[in-house]
Amino acid sequence: MLQKWSLDRDAEFTTTKKFELKPIISTREWTFGYNWVKLRKRIVKYLHEGTQFYMCTTSESTSDITKAKCKEFWIKEGGWHDLDELLEWSMKFIAVKIDSENWESSTCSCHYWQKNFKCKHTIGTSHFLNLNKFPGLDLAIEGNAKRGRKKKPDQL
Ligand SMILES: [Zn+2]
Repeated sequence: MLQKWSLDRDAEFTTTKKFELKPIISTREWTFGYNWVKLRKRIVKYLHEGTQFYMCTTSESTSDITKAKCKEFWIKEGGWHDLDELLEWSMKFIAVKIDSENWESSTCSCHYWQKNFKCKHTIGTSHFLNLNKFPGLDLAIEGNAKRGRKKKPDQL
């Protein structure tokens, strides 16, 4: 039962995509994404069964993710001992799966995403991959960083 965890919902998501139900990102959520990007969490690219995941620790966590932890995460994913263990891991680690053609449809393992089908991690990770741009207003806040007037203000 526990094996059917959220990340396993690709099939469902493909169905959703057919109808082009892109989640609308609100200004508030853009801001969450922006603030998350500023945390500069270490993100580890991890290939699991042919799927590319971007993994990191949660914002609350003070430790950084390691490749070994990613591995442990996926080994455990299919065999949680109990719900407590599953919850403990899902509170510590985030696994984002990016849809490069349609970044709004990217998926994440966090609780916010489960409810809203979008979250700061999908917004932020897409941003790192140059798939989206923060609305102008947010970038204006970062006035100092604009000094160089780079062609790609998104590059962090
Ligand atoms: Zn998330």
